[in-house]
Amino acid sequence: MTIQAGARLLEGAPIADEIRAGVARDVAAFTAENGHAPALAVVVCGRSAPSMVYLERILKACAGVGIDGRLVDVAGDDGAAQAAGLASALRTLSADDTVAGIIVQMPLPKGIGIRTVIDAIDPAKDIDGIHPLNAGLLRLGFEGFVPATAHAALEMLQRSGAPSEGAEAVVVGRSPVVGMPVAFLLAKSGATTTVCHSKTRDLAAHTRRADIVVVAAGQPGLVTGAMLKPGAVVIDVGINVVDGQIVGDVDLASAREVAGAITPVPGGVGPLTNALLLAHLVRAAQRQAAERSASAVLGDA
Ligand code: NAP
Repeated sequence: MTIQAGARLLEGAPIADEIRAGVARDVAAFTAENGHAPALAVVVCGRSAPSMVYLERILKACAGVGIDGRLVDVAGDDGAAQAAGLASALRTLSADDTVAGIIVQMPLPKGIGIRTVIDAIDPAKDIDGIHPLNAGLLRLGFEGFVPATAHAALEMLQRSGAPSEGAEAVVVGRSPVVGMPVAFLLAKSGATTTVCHSKTRDLAAHTRRADIVVVAAGQPGLVTGAMLKPGAVVIDVGINVVDGQIVGDVDLASAREVAGAITPVPGGVGPLTNALLLAHLVRAAQRQAAERSASAVLGDA
């Protein structure tokens, strides 16, 4: 069989545009019905954080679709004061009916553990799926909030048109925010799923037999064309800066020669992550509003 060189590029931007347009319509309907726009609180511990660029992009995207994006900067001179300030801010936002969703700057500053966030955030507002309740719902196959990046990787795969039922899928990376949620979603979709990580003995032996390869390792060029099965669908989640350029975890040039379809970096999974986060926010706002009106009806009865 001759393999056609030049895999199809799976661009995220057109899908993200479509999702954002749907979100804007839902936000307008929500705002008309509730008298206020749904709000997303973006909580940071100091604006110098490296993730600030990403968070500012989210706030800009909120403005673009009519979501009330609020930057909440937690003050504090040392780790303990900042942790206390963060917990207090998250409790206040969790109790605020006008705030539908909360995301927290990651990674957290040194000295603040994830428990500080988990213990204070309302799982119903945890739109990026970091709370154990949402992680547990995903693990058990129920509907909850899935981390937006993992959701984006799966959305990209589904939009590629490649069937996942019965397919061999390999996920490279086992982090709680990307690798494992992707693996659970793939398994749920019917793919026979293998999770590889830094202790995997022969990574290429696994990737070479996979119809679907999702790479989320944070290692530029980790997966090359020689490690792929011809025609495979490759979803590159990695974001790395090499010589001032953003690159993925997959060596795009060699992978394109072998794969059937591949997400470019930048321009693949990244734009979709941002759009799906907004979609999660709207879902949270709609659910909370429905619960409030249901309890108002019960209160009246
Ligand atoms: P992470 O927490 O550092 O996890 C990396 C995972 O990759 C770990 O499970 C690690 O294995 C595994 N790994 C590292 N080196 C490996 C190797 N040589 N061979 C096989 N596995 C290896 O990273 P993350 O937060 O999951 O993020 C992964 C990548 O996605 C990063 O590049 C990040 O920037 C990117 N990202 C992108 C988006 C987006 O919107 N596109 C969002 C979030 C993150 P061990 O568990 O054994 O250490």
